[in-house]
Amino acid sequence: MVTTRFAPSPTGYIHVGNLRTALMNFLIARKAGGQFILRIDDTDPERSKEEYVDAIKEDLEWLGLQWDRVERQSARLDRYAAAADKLREIGRFYECFETPTELDLKRKKQLNMGKPPVYDRAALDLTDEEKAKLREERGGYWRFKLDQERIEWEDGIAGPVSIDAASVSDPVLIRADGQVLYTLASVVDDTEMGVTHVVRGADHITNTATQIQIIEALGGTVPNFAHHSLLTGPQGEALSKRLGTLALRDLRARGVEPMALLSLMARLGSSDPVELQDDMGKLIDGFDITRFGTNPTKFDVNDLYPLTARVLHAAPIEEMAEDIRAAGVPDDQAEAFWGAVRENVETRKDIAAWWTLCRDGAKPVIDEEDAAFVAEAMGMLPEGPFDGETWGKWTSAVKEATGRKGRGLFMPLRKALTGMDHGPDMGKLMPLLQVIRARD
Ligand code: GLU
Repeated sequence: MVTTRFAPSPTGYIHVGNLRTALMNFLIARKAGGQFILRIDDTDPERSKEEYVDAIKEDLEWLGLQWDRVERQSARLDRYAAAADKLREIGRFYECFETPTELDLKRKKQLNMGKPPVYDRAALDLTDEEKAKLREERGGYWRFKLDQERIEWEDGIAGPVSIDAASVSDPVLIRADGQVLYTLASVVDDTEMGVTHVVRGADHITNTATQIQIIEALGGTVPNFAHHSLLTGPQGEALSKRLGTLALRDLRARGVEPMALLSLMARLGSSDPVELQDDMGKLIDGFDITRFGTNPTKFDVNDLYPLTARVLHAAPIEEMAEDIRAAGVPDDQAEAFWGAVRENVETRKDIAAWWTLCRDGAKPVIDEEDAAFVAEAMGMLPEGPFDGETWGKWTSAVKEATGRKGRGLFMPLRKALTGMDHGPDMGKLMPLLQVIRARD
């Protein structure tokens, strides 16, 4: 069965970059009728926080990216220990003792000599005695011994990839304090959980190369890998520093609609155009990972607002009922209210302001040259309550009386009644106006 996973580390809130990964994995699983696993990569006890686990779930649920099951790496430490034992047994795991400073020095020397900064495997030459002494002094950590050959795979996005293992340092899989690192934990999970497709960011390409060798060493099946390009800002600038402000919960707080965000992210960076979809099924049907490219993908948060507005303009009243009620609109006016203002909301947060206008009226805006005209027109305004005909009848009568027409007729009246030069169709708005301050 096609099985994918989204594997965030619960060390912060997830952002648009993470969403890209989550969504692609979700869509692949759903399209194939497979399984989508939410895997919490929490092997780092200091940085992992329960509140982030909850937040990740909340954010995914907000978007409707429902997982089939949750796995937690912190509950599987025995599995990683067993895998480490196996690697030791087959001679692919070795203990090292260099401090970070020593490693840094080695790297600098190599770079000075024009060599790639690859770990020199000095630890392999240590005698048992030397190792025992170093272990006592500073504790050892464990590296996987790469076979120094080319590692190749057919990437679902990048196409054929070939990496020379000799240009990569043997990865550290267990730290001196015993903490299992992501590379090993991820491989064990992907293998044991039957993960068939792994989509993740291009920053993981080197990891993938080493993971393929680890999977093979452990006798597992190598999944299909696809590496999507990383997001940049609108100008092509690195987004990494700004991702903090692009957390999914911030976008939600700013009023971005889930389908706007999902529709954009399902297509951004692909050769298919962005199409606003109104349900997940269409998003799933229209997703094709082979359409994505390796060029950095420009993301502009401002693109989300026109899409959000379009989601709302098309939203049926049932989907808006809660927000409309929360804004204070009486139930018997909800439908008329939404019919009047729907085209004029960009996010749900705009709803309340339109109701405030209907309920309280607005401070009239009357240009000097229109003062006499507006006064005359207001004198002709019929007594309320207004209905759907009021605006049409009233403005016809005013036109007749004053000779004004078109914009010169309508705009001063709109500004006098709403305090604004734009807004909902006045014919629809009039019946909702509870107070006409302009008459005072
Ligand atoms: N926890 C890893 C990360 O967030 C997962 C990467 C992967 O998909 O394997 O980068």
